[in-house]
Amino acid sequence: MADIVLDKVGKRFPDGTVAVRDIDLEIADGEFVILVGPSGCGKSTTLNMIAGLEDISSGELRVDGERVNDRAPRDRDIAMVFQSYALYPNMTVRENMAFPLRLAKLDKAAIDEKVEEAAKVLELTPLLDRKPANLSGGQRQRVAMGRAIVRRPKAFLMDEPLSNLDAKLRVQMRTVVSRLQKQLGTTTVYVTHDQTEAMTLGDRVVIMRAGAVQQVGPPQELYDHPINLFVAGFIGSPSMNFLHAAVEDGRLRTALGDLPLGQRLRRELAAADAPRELILGIRPEHFEDADLVDEQTRPKGIEFEAPVDIVESMGSDKYVYFSVEGERARAAELEELAADAGAADFAGAGSALVTRLSAESTVREGETRRVWVNLEKLHLFDPANGRNLT
Ligand code: ATP
Repeated sequence: MADIVLDKVGKRFPDGTVAVRDIDLEIADGEFVILVGPSGCGKSTTLNMIAGLEDISSGELRVDGERVNDRAPRDRDIAMVFQSYALYPNMTVRENMAFPLRLAKLDKAAIDEKVEEAAKVLELTPLLDRKPANLSGGQRQRVAMGRAIVRRPKAFLMDEPLSNLDAKLRVQMRTVVSRLQKQLGTTTVYVTHDQTEAMTLGDRVVIMRAGAVQQVGPPQELYDHPINLFVAGFIGSPSMNFLHAAVEDGRLRTALGDLPLGQRLRRELAAADAPRELILGIRPEHFEDADLVDEQTRPKGIEFEAPVDIVESMGSDKYVYFSVEGERARAAELEELAADAGAADFAGAGSALVTRLSAESTVREGETRRVWVNLEKLHLFDPANGRNLT
């Protein structure tokens, strides 16, 4: 096992593309860290540099305190699991898993023991004599993982290992990966562009954009306290809603109505030297059908009225899309501001408000409905740089 430190690590490809910019990251011994971000943000390049499959252009990579920039992949004692399983088709599961141990010239008894132990952990024992062609996708991916764990490396690196599996299998394999990592306690770096995987798998999540780290933290912290518009828009599904807001006389003017600014927020805005024009962020689950909110127990909130566009029943709750008239006219402007400040996904922003309401809500498409919004959960962003001011 090992800790892994990236100290201002950068990657410039020969054609001049800068894929990774000065990344600082400390991964503790035994930690499970997820690298997540949109396509092309540099996740795989970062992982490949840790593995030794790509040269490091600048900075230092240390494993267990030792600089390994120039060490060959096979001498780093790190195992990699890819999206494509890369199993040998002519070999059985047992032979596939034994392969790295045979290369390491272990004797047959030791190989058998290690393969059987790994097969047990991954529930592959009944399949040891099958060929890959006769396995399901999930089973093949388990064999690929088995091949990585047999030699008990210092660390595992996984590059989108589940993305070739169908949705249901992916959920099952998520628990396999999670259990395996806990059981072995091996330092693991896992790349994905799937934010659900990022939220459910790791101890800490690293959110990347354009070769740079945006925020690092435990999943819940990133969800509750996104550092900027990009992280706020990237984590959470459906995405956080973004609306115009203007500070005026200690209140926040928005298309949903005037929102009182609490003392804390007023103080923070003053401290942050905030501009008068802001972007208001509200997560879909912080709305509720006003008829269903208990006056006595509810947190501080306001109510507004809006026309219902679409109702999607999810069983456990309802995704309800509302039109917000005042925002529609300014949608393009908001979209531009947010794109400049780096919000991840701004499609349709400013015209439709996405809310997650209780399944008991009787809301119907086409009607106008009163909606309650939790004022304790608002986020305010500076449109100039995307920074979260709350
Ligand atoms: P994805 O989720 O699509 O796999 P990623 O976040 O893993 O993306 P990388 O594969 O690390 O992204 O690529 C980062 C950037 O580096 C991209 O802009 C990509 O086009 C560029 N890149 C990758 N490999 C090379 C190369 N060999 N030469 C030049 N540019 C490259």
